[in-house]
Amino acid sequence: MARRKNVLTNWIRRPFARFGNAERDFVALGIATAAILMFVGTGSAVGPDVVRSLAGYGLGPDKVLVNALLLNIALIIFGWRRYSQLSEEVAERRKAEKLALKMAETDPLTGFMNRRCFGGALKRMMEKSDANGEGLAVMMIDIDNFKQINDFNGHSAGDRILYECAMRINSIIPRNSAVARIGGDEFACAVPYDKARPEFIDTIAAGIVEALNQPTEHNNSSLAVTASLGITRADAGIGLDLARSDALRLLEMADIAMYHAKRQGRNSYFWFEDHMANEMRFRREIEAGIRHGLSQDEFVPSYEQQIDVQTGELTGFEMLARWNSPKFGMVKPDIFIPIAENIGAIGDLSECLLKKALSDAKQWDTRLTLAVNISPLQLRDPWFSQRLLKLLLEANFPPQRLEVEITESCLHENLTMVRTLISSLKNQGISVSLDDFGTGYSSLAQLQSLPFDRIKIDRSFVSKLTRDKDSAAIVEAIAMLGKGLGLPVTVEGIEDEKVLDALRAYGALSGQGYLYGEPRSADETRTWLSENGLLLSGSPAAEMPKPLAGAPANPASMTNPNRPIAGTG
Ligand code: C2E
Ligand code: CA
Ligand code: CA
Repeated sequence: MARRKNVLTNWIRRPFARFGNAERDFVALGIATAAILMFVGTGSAVGPDVVRSLAGYGLGPDKVLVNALLLNIALIIFGWRRYSQLSEEVAERRKAEKLALKMAETDPLTGFMNRRCFGGALKRMMEKSDANGEGLAVMMIDIDNFKQINDFNGHSAGDRILYECAMRINSIIPRNSAVARIGGDEFACAVPYDKARPEFIDTIAAGIVEALNQPTEHNNSSLAVTASLGITRADAGIGLDLARSDALRLLEMADIAMYHAKRQGRNSYFWFEDHMANEMRFRREIEAGIRHGLSQDEFVPSYEQQIDVQTGELTGFEMLARWNSPKFGMVKPDIFIPIAENIGAIGDLSECLLKKALSDAKQWDTRLTLAVNISPLQLRDPWFSQRLLKLLLEANFPPQRLEVEITESCLHENLTMVRTLISSLKNQGISVSLDDFGTGYSSLAQLQSLPFDRIKIDRSFVSKLTRDKDSAAIVEAIAMLGKGLGLPVTVEGIEDEKVLDALRAYGALSGQGYLYGEPRSADETRTWLSENGLLLSGSPAAEMPKPLAGAPANPASMTNPNRPIAGTG
């Protein structure tokens, strides 16, 4: 990139350097002009003498005057040549300037305008369509699975997809439109239309979604992507306090509609509607709330039991984050984790939760494990395992009791990096589970090549286990796969006895779910453990007087008090 920039700047500088010389030759033009004036003067004095001498009447012109005349002629020729050279160089400079400007405003890969230039173009089109009484639609197009193509197939495949998408978009939008590549895999278009025929824009949008959905051939393989598209009209959303200038407001509205298309399952287009702006405003409030909540220590762990399905024994807890927000109430992680990831707060958030969880779990019976969820973004941090080790050391918590859960979607990240990270966690004695298994697209080869300690079957299959044959077949297949690979399997989302009974047929499994109780706060968990003799002596709650009648007294029957155990097998 740096080299490319140098080439570009040298290339731009060269003609300008030449022009610097040419500019000084305005002097030559001055000399030539003066020479012409002198030529007229001396010529009028010398000319009649020359004519007379040629006619044989006179002595001829004065030699000094003749010399001056010849010098004038030489100066005129010199000045004229320099001047025409100068004009050529000025033309060359204009050409170079134009090209440099074009390069500064153009995306080199697709030849489209870049974001900077598109803002200006959009503003001009808005003014023009306003003056002509025309409609103007702004579209934002985002390729859904571009990152995967880049990661799996390499950057040349990524570039090929971007170029191909650009060409397809260009072939669909009308000639009087503006189109730009405004981000890595994001394109924007401004399309004028007849206000009486807004369906024209629908046809274009549907055409783009359809066109981008067609496979692209690259190095003998077929690359498939989908795209999400958001549209807004230039006269929509007036009065919505979204962004500063009108052009930016339109881009933001199209962007909001595009995200709506993504949330609705991608590979589609949506027009901006006012309620989407409310969602956006809500999102901003959450963003600000997360930042504030972090400083106010509003994020707290909750704990969900993990049970041995065959025996009903409690084996540990999964820590699930909660946001105890004074403004929004108790917020679930599905809402705030993706936003925390988006605003770059996930590392701090996770660290503060981990600290609390390690300090809580230290008070539990030492056979109980603590499982924690880690965001794919955290896995990109090369210092992640060192940070975790530091927290373990500070809390004096044995790494053998900690399990890190990473979701299947992490495997779409850089696989080598994920493998290094898993190995480094395992070297420290920490276990690593593959969470939400079955929802992503990890291959058997990936599963085999990564040293996981456990697979967790996603609850979407488990909840339908007794009603849906396919889900039952998937759960059984994953249970068998775990057996085959020698990996323990945890089943999530066990909500009723019927499901539990069905699961027992698949052999040794761990289980979690609302049947065993919903996640509890740290205090509730401590009290509950204390009542069941599962809190270390010396912990504050262990001092509490009354253990529950019937709570397991000896560790061999570390049972789940929520349900009777005997005879449930
Ligand atoms: P997960 O790791 O798959 O966690 C299980 C989710 O299923 C939890 O939702 C849990 O409350 C819920 N659940 C458990 N049993 C049942 C059941 O029987 N029925 C139903 N319907 N749901 C059940 P929760 O707490 O809302 O967490 C959602 C997701 O948020 C988690 O999914 C996890 O991926 C993520 N998450 C939670 N805590 C953290 C965290 O500290 N860091 C990160 N990065 N992600 C977290
Ligand atoms: Ca989990
Ligand atoms: Ca899960």
